[in-house]
Amino acid sequence: MLLARYATPFCCTVGHVHVASAAQSEIRITLEVTVALVNDIASDELDARTTLDANGFPRASNASNASVQRLGQRLVALSPLVSSLPDLDDPTAMRRVNEELTELPISPSIVDHDAVGPHLHWTPSTATFDDQVVSDILMALALELVENGTIRFGRCAADGCERLFYDGTRNRSRRFCDDARCASRTHTADHRARRASERSA
Ligand SMILES: [Zn+2]
Ligand SMILES: [Zn+2]
Repeated sequence: MLLARYATPFCCTVGHVHVASAAQSEIRITLEVTVALVNDIASDELDARTTLDANGFPRASNASNASVQRLGQRLVALSPLVSSLPDLDDPTAMRRVNEELTELPISPSIVDHDAVGPHLHWTPSTATFDDQVVSDILMALALELVENGTIRFGRCAADGCERLFYDGTRNRSRRFCDDARCASRTHTADHRARRASERSA
């Protein structure tokens, strides 16, 4: 996204209960894209340029092939951490994200590119596309861990599906990944099981 991303002053919102809703929704979009990329890696279908381009990362369409290729390798390296978030306790997840953050050239800057208007990046305006995206992902993870811990990361409840999801619902009621078939086939199976038990009763 990175349009109005973090346009609100993030430094004074972190750690407080009332994170500005615009910044919060930008973080959520980044987390959902991150989950989608990691699920694509798990199923060997990663196309980072297309996925990022479709989700409001305006640099994705013009990024160099080398940068997109590096990004793919870095996402693959990051995917075990993201995939394990549902199983990690908060201190472990925070430590792991901190380890990744130390590797990144994070230094916020106001940028204006691709006619989207001035906005903030976590990286200098000269950063490569892969550094920018990986920093964006790690900062979104860091902000999420500070705000909610790992509790909003989950795995699909459908039989045979291991896909990850980020639960952005108010009451944390999400059970399935973004593949609509998972919810529908589980509901059908539940319904059949109920009918069967009614018949045998
Ligand atoms: Zn940008
Ligand atoms: Zn699923």
